[in-house]
Amino acid sequence: MNNLKKISIFLIISSILLLITGCSNKTNNPKRNINVTTSLNFYGEVAKDVLGNHGSVTSIINNPNIDPHDFEPKSSDARNVSKTNVMVSNGLGYDSWAENLTSNNKDITKVNVGKLMGKNSGDNPHIWYNIDTMKKLAYELANQFGKLQPQNKKAFEQNAKDYVNKLKPVEDKINNIKKSKIDKPVAVSEPVFDYSLDKLGYSIADKSFEEAIEKGNDPAPADIRQLQNDIIHHKLAFFVVNKQVNSKIVTNLANLAKKNKLPIVYVTETKPVNMSNYIKWMDNQYDQVLKIQKNNRLK
Ligand SMILES: [Zn+2]
Repeated sequence: MNNLKKISIFLIISSILLLITGCSNKTNNPKRNINVTTSLNFYGEVAKDVLGNHGSVTSIINNPNIDPHDFEPKSSDARNVSKTNVMVSNGLGYDSWAENLTSNNKDITKVNVGKLMGKNSGDNPHIWYNIDTMKKLAYELANQFGKLQPQNKKAFEQNAKDYVNKLKPVEDKINNIKKSKIDKPVAVSEPVFDYSLDKLGYSIADKSFEEAIEKGNDPAPADIRQLQNDIIHHKLAFFVVNKQVNSKIVTNLANLAKKNKLPIVYVTETKPVNMSNYIKWMDNQYDQVLKIQKNNRLK
């Protein structure tokens, strides 16, 4: 065989090999498709925005009638998760089932939002009420999607930036509220809105009361009395009530607040059906605070 022949045979073999490995990469590497599953629908929203049309996103809890604290996945959820290659969970014990469903899967990209935010177990899990969480998640998803589809890395990064820009009006509203905040603490029925209150510059008057409600315990009679006194003696800026939770104690306190003209901010744990997206949902809740502050100035 002369050298030219040797080279051409070598070239043919290597191009066949390239073809084979090229094909097998396409068919055997599931990472080429991005199928995202999120435990909560508002995280799914961020994922959809960042992913664009380069994959699919499924959210397991997407109904406001489900209490995420008590949620247990169905077998169809487990089947769904087995086809996924990016799993977004809240963490902090809020959706341990999501972590359990993927614990044996090493090939899956796991994004734990609590960990991403530097939180530890025992910390308040309602971290989506901190708008920074959504920004950080958008950039992290762009980073992870970029590893799975490097050819679309730039697009993911741009999509994340666009999403963060969409949050800007809500952020501006938060800053405006903070500038004109009422110089009193607030009471809350449970810790669902606390990260937002922190951003707004408000402190919480009834820490041990909210903790008891969150844990499903009866608040101590002394804590209830303290809260009643704070309401009656106008020591609070407003009272934050989670509409999704039915509690006789909270209902009685809300009635007492109405009687004493203490404004109530109604919030929800998960996105209500009549709110088309996270931004509108948050905006509506911040608007309630803004209105209370305006009325307070007119007093
Ligand atoms: Zn909660």
